[in-house]
Amino acid sequence: MILKLKPGLSIDEINQLMDLFHLMNLRTVLQQTEVSTTVTITNKLAANAHPELFTALPAVLEVIDSEPQFKLASHISKNSKTTITLPHHVIGAGELTVIAGSCSVESSDQIFATAKYVSAAGAQILRGGAFKPRTSPYDFQGLGETGLQYLQAAAQEYKMASVSEVMDTRDVELCAKYVDILQVGARNMQNFNLLKEVGLCQKPIVLKRGLCATYHEFLLAAEYILHAGNPNVILCERGVRTYETYTRNMLDVAAVPILQQLSHLPVIVDPSHATGRRELILPMARAAVAAGADGLMIETHEFPDRAVSDAMQTIDPIAFSEVMQAVNKIHRALNDN
Ligand code: PEP
Ligand code: MN
Repeated sequence: MILKLKPGLSIDEINQLMDLFHLMNLRTVLQQTEVSTTVTITNKLAANAHPELFTALPAVLEVIDSEPQFKLASHISKNSKTTITLPHHVIGAGELTVIAGSCSVESSDQIFATAKYVSAAGAQILRGGAFKPRTSPYDFQGLGETGLQYLQAAAQEYKMASVSEVMDTRDVELCAKYVDILQVGARNMQNFNLLKEVGLCQKPIVLKRGLCATYHEFLLAAEYILHAGNPNVILCERGVRTYETYTRNMLDVAAVPILQQLSHLPVIVDPSHATGRRELILPMARAAVAAGADGLMIETHEFPDRAVSDAMQTIDPIAFSEVMQAVNKIHRALNDN
């Protein structure tokens, strides 16, 4: 159940109401924006409580008791877009966010070289996996903590934020120590313990769409993180598994407007994992931005053929800079500036 509160309530009035809900054994989440304040009641008991009970409260403007299951992620509980403030960049506030870097952090020199050219081309966030979810146990599994240290140092040197995947609840604290944003990968989108754990941490989360996840399942995965107390979730469309084998996955461009219509969370697109093919990164990045994506995540390496993971989808510095120019042009045209 979602309660829209009357505009202009004082902090004391809101606190009194929250105290009352607490006494009523209701679990609540308060979401305040410049234009609205809502209280979402998240425990089952309340779902059966009568809406009239809440309508009668003087501070309550409207009671919505037929909200989607992803209450906190939905526009109904928060009608303005979530923005995520990093030291040098704000995600979801209008500027196109570009996360770029190699699939894996391979060495200090490699990630510094990558940070240098991606930041020069305009990317704000450096990516690099230190804990890698590989299909085969014989493939490179990542440098672990050392990789996180290299990533952090390179990002700091070039005034970028950093993102890296966390695969295990036991590593959340360790990853959060080194990076600005944690990533939950496609294979872990329904690892509910991991979602709850990253929900308790203070860092924003890039949540990637599961290999076969519906929008509903994707948004409920985000809901786990929001419900645990972390409001800063970025949804990442990275393609879904279909019968087609030419591409690694099938990029679902419609996910961008659909998720933006259903949710206030920023939506980014990863054309690298979505296609698995270098030559498709430019057109698919253009399509994502034209569809209104808040940002992109792109795999790039100084020497793509030497990349230890995902070489086939990794683009070189020149191709990366061409992508940046193309997407910035489209973004400017869409935003009339
Ligand atoms: C990644 O971004 O490094 C990755 C493994 O992506 P996904 O979880 O989307 O496959
Ligand atoms: Mn990869």
